[in-house]
Amino acid sequence: MLFLFLFIIIVYTVIYFVILNTQERELRNLVSQEAGYIETLLGKNNQSDLRGIQNQEVIFAGVDQSFYYVINSNREVVMGSEANPRLRPELLSFVYKHMSNDQDVQNEVIRMDEKLRKGRGGFRAPDQNQDIHMMIASHGVYYKGQYIGQIYIGKDVSFAYRLFHWVLVILIVLGFVFVGVAVFISLRMSKRAMVPIKSAFKRQREFVGDASHELRTPLSVLLSSVDAMDMTIDTQKDEMASKLLANMREEVKRMTNLVSDLLTLARSDSNTIELKKEEFDLRPLAEKAIESLHPIAASKQIQLGLNSTDIFTVIGDPQRLSQLIYILLDNAIKYTPDGGEVKLNLLKEGREVRIMVQDTGIGIKKEDYHKIFERFYRTDKSRSRQIGGHGLGLSIAKWIVETHKGTIQVTSVLGKGSTFIVKLPDYD
Ligand code: ADP
Repeated sequence: MLFLFLFIIIVYTVIYFVILNTQERELRNLVSQEAGYIETLLGKNNQSDLRGIQNQEVIFAGVDQSFYYVINSNREVVMGSEANPRLRPELLSFVYKHMSNDQDVQNEVIRMDEKLRKGRGGFRAPDQNQDIHMMIASHGVYYKGQYIGQIYIGKDVSFAYRLFHWVLVILIVLGFVFVGVAVFISLRMSKRAMVPIKSAFKRQREFVGDASHELRTPLSVLLSSVDAMDMTIDTQKDEMASKLLANMREEVKRMTNLVSDLLTLARSDSNTIELKKEEFDLRPLAEKAIESLHPIAASKQIQLGLNSTDIFTVIGDPQRLSQLIYILLDNAIKYTPDGGEVKLNLLKEGREVRIMVQDTGIGIKKEDYHKIFERFYRTDKSRSRQIGGHGLGLSIAKWIVETHKGTIQVTSVLGKGSTFIVKLPDYD
């Protein structure tokens, strides 16, 4: 587009200068030729006064000039003629404006007002309603080296200006046509180019989904085998084996969680998860989440609290909203040092349902507010890995909130704590 624009400007400028320069050159040649002719005539007749050749035949030919005037050094018109006599005052005003004894070319515009348009004898302009662009060339007339007057020849170059106008219109139209064609072709090409990319992306998503799905069964077999082995060994006698089994159980559980998160996200990408939309009381589900997380919180002496009305009715998918609460509470406990506090508030604000999880934890930097909702993003990788995070929890939380047409936000003060606020529309 930029090149096309530059091309239009260059073509237009070249045409403009080539045409005007040609006209100017022709007019310059003519005026100097005529000045020479007058000087020869004066010499032949031994006349130092231009009035002496007033009645001589002075020929102006070769160019369709619109007027010529020969003016002596007293600014009197000695000879002159014009295609449209009504324009004489106007033309003379141009001539006097630029009176000089040098060679000169100037461009003037005659505004065609009512006064000039009326009357007989048309000026040489194809359309009387248009202004006339006049190119005026002048040349000094000398007798024995002394300046005695000036000759002016004017030419109507309106046709050139009309040509420039049309060239510009045509170039702009062509420009639009080319842009349209270019946009059309690029859209078609990009659509074609997107086909393999889309299918590769789809295959990749399917692979993640399938792999996660396939991994779930061996992992659950592994977990039950570890449990079975744990039951068969004598923990008192074989302390080492018992420790190893405990580690194995932890790792298998972590892997199971990761695989289940990956599966959830892969399914959310391919839109294969159907969410329920039912009216239910969220309070019992919130209590259940708190109950199941209580042992972890207690191990860190974290106070876990719930603030909600007795019945907190919402509309949505119970399983997913419960998972959302679980993710937010789990994070709050994970990222709050021992002895802290984590609170879950269920509120109704106007026509909005709010789920708020507040903690007195490590806090989040402002620049990370958006990034933490990206997949696999962790503000502190080593710390997060140590406490069992793999950076998918908040991506799932965001997906759950968005499928419920809500929003999730975080506000935080580093070292003091964070608050995650989920706003869901109340469908009542
Ligand atoms: P992870 O499994 O690592 O916790 P998440 O997606 O749940 O993954 O969270 C992404 C990152 O956001 C975490 O690694 C952590 O850095 C930050 N984060 C989430 N919740 C909190 C919180 N309550 N306090 C401080 N940081 C948090």
